[in-house]
Amino acid sequence: MRLPLYSITLIFLLFAIAATTARAQMTEARISVVSISPPRVRVVGTRSVATRVWSFRNNYAGMVGLGERIESLSLSDERGASVPVRKLAPGEFTAERDATKFTYEIRLDPPTSAGDAAHVSWLTESRCALMPGDLLPLPLARARLSFELPGGWKIAASEEGGAAEVYDLADAESFVAFAGGDVRERAAKVRGMRLRVAFAGDWAFADEEGAGVVAAIVKEHAKTFDGVPRKDALVVVAPFPRQSVASQWAAEARGGTVLYLSGRAPSRASALMRLGAPLAHELFHLWVPNGLGLAGDYGWFYEGFTNYQALRASQRLGDLSFNDYLDALARASDAYDALKGQDTVSLLEASSRRWTGSNALVYHKGMLVAALYDLKLRSASGGKRSLDDVYRALFRRALSGSRGLDANAVALGTLEELLGGREFTDKFVRGAQRIDLAAELQPYGLLLERTGARSRLVVSGSLRGAQRDLLRQIGLQ
Ligand SMILES: [Zn+2]
Repeated sequence: MRLPLYSITLIFLLFAIAATTARAQMTEARISVVSISPPRVRVVGTRSVATRVWSFRNNYAGMVGLGERIESLSLSDERGASVPVRKLAPGEFTAERDATKFTYEIRLDPPTSAGDAAHVSWLTESRCALMPGDLLPLPLARARLSFELPGGWKIAASEEGGAAEVYDLADAESFVAFAGGDVRERAAKVRGMRLRVAFAGDWAFADEEGAGVVAAIVKEHAKTFDGVPRKDALVVVAPFPRQSVASQWAAEARGGTVLYLSGRAPSRASALMRLGAPLAHELFHLWVPNGLGLAGDYGWFYEGFTNYQALRASQRLGDLSFNDYLDALARASDAYDALKGQDTVSLLEASSRRWTGSNALVYHKGMLVAALYDLKLRSASGGKRSLDDVYRALFRRALSGSRGLDANAVALGTLEELLGGREFTDKFVRGAQRIDLAAELQPYGLLLERTGARSRLVVSGSLRGAQRDLLRQIGLQ
């Protein structure tokens, strides 16, 4: 059916109005801790655009029912007259007429699954992570936020709050405030970017050492991209809000903040390793996807390819060897093999279903495809180009106006432009072709061997000159 022209115009106008409303929306809010046990905050504030629709985040990163934490929502209009409000569903409310002022409370028990604690707001007797994205009514754009916390708690945030600790935010949804009685900060400059590293809890390394590990990784990534993604960034290193095992960690990179939660490794060496390996991946997210500003879900690239780039960065930093590189690819191959049943969709399709089952495919197959791309581009260009050039090109494009464009189109376009064709991406990203890793790696002099349940990747005993040159580029001694 063809729509008459006027209704197309009307739809266009409605979209335009919705987009303008989101952009013009300004939220002022004060978030106050009213009780530690049970953990509760009160949120009092005003929205600049009056509305009857009051909606809060209900699902995020595989968690459901976040909206149920909202209690005692009361609304009033600009003149302060009370506006009756009715709950429609978890996190969804409708007001009898337009309202601007709001008051409600939120229960902030840490999530029962420790790993979820990097993705959602929580409060304990010693610390809190406060994320406007799941605390304030949506849509959220600009905001002015202040906090009332227990005495002696210090706030760590990527933006500057000033002496009054009032945060003026252009994009409140990507903001995180971390606070606690034992929060201390170290600062460094990387190519003009102010990098703050906040620590809470006791670690087997000194704060300086931990901050040094973070700064070294950020410098390495800045070299890959030939630039920094923003003026300010914050990395929070903190224990889980609930009991966890020593080997567990969880992280999220939101806007300019990386929140890294971890169990406590007993020795200095293992603790530093535990910090560096996951952060090589998480800090890369400050650039991809957070610094690129592209639209759409392209997890195959920003998770799978990031796994590979993090591995390469750790090698260049001397934290991992060439053998570790081979072992990591063999592990990804085993994890990928274990997903046989799920390997029926393309990476593009798997990415659009993230958090609902195809996550592992995005990470493991994505990483193997990145490795194959890197080797193929290095080989095709006689060692003059690598996957790093793709990142440099993407970052340059972001600076010159690719923001808001379709992420899959931009990422695929850049990969294809550098490799000179779309045969590779058609097969492994757009298409659902299974990777025969042994066959794909054999031309580079790498042999995939199976010993029992695990694979091993080894260098062929009879390398040709060109194969040796290529493998030397990625760390073969
Ligand atoms: Zn990631």
